[in-house]
Amino acid sequence: MPEPAPLLRLTTSWDDGHPLDRRVAAALARRGLPGTFYVPRQNVEGRPVMAEADIRALAADGFELAAHTSDHVRLPGLSRDAARRQIDEGRRWLEDVLGAPVRGFAYPGGHPGPWGRGLAREAGFAYARTTRMLCLGPGSDPFAMGTTAQIFHHGLPALLRNWLRHGGGGNRLAVLTDLRAGGGLPAAMAVLFARARRQGGVLHLWGHSWEIEERGLWAAFDDIMAMAADLVPAVGRVTNEGVSR
Ligand SMILES: [Zn+2]
Repeated sequence: MPEPAPLLRLTTSWDDGHPLDRRVAAALARRGLPGTFYVPRQNVEGRPVMAEADIRALAADGFELAAHTSDHVRLPGLSRDAARRQIDEGRRWLEDVLGAPVRGFAYPGGHPGPWGRGLAREAGFAYARTTRMLCLGPGSDPFAMGTTAQIFHHGLPALLRNWLRHGGGGNRLAVLTDLRAGGGLPAAMAVLFARARRQGGVLHLWGHSWEIEERGLWAAFDDIMAMAADLVPAVGRVTNEGVSR
């Protein structure tokens, strides 16, 4: 008898709460795919954010809504008090919008800095996501959740920096090699998906809707989500919170 395929789970996450997140959510909903949206109250980098009614609508559609600081400020440059304010106010605001507890947090820019991990735990979050890529599992620290790949065609130097900055490691190098396969972003993702199917684990795809728009990646995004829907059965489709447990 052939070996049963190892369990593969899929989660996706989308940062910054841009109004185009509604387009991402509609595409995910069409395919029955999960999504976690990390939403700040406002974005000091100058990008618009969704109206509060839209945030509530995503939650009503079954997506996970999670915090991303109050103002989308990168934590490593802040004092401990300022970082705490950003984390706490972002959570309180989103809980008020949703009328429900918020369990997840993502570090703006992906890096917690010296105090981000401790502050995220003290704030009462269950987990916090980074921008560490090339992982086929969330990792052992719930306040440093890793991801697999961004919906963005990174060059080799950026992927190598991400690999090195987060400790290197052989299995992550294999994922890096997959993402450098030729033929465009969906073709590289297909190579990665084949590995994920062989190995099992958690395939965590993430991105920014505003970046998909700026880079003209909507067709690639659709192709990649179609492949993900083909690959992962309904039982394996989970929110970021679902893979943090
Ligand atoms: Zn962000």
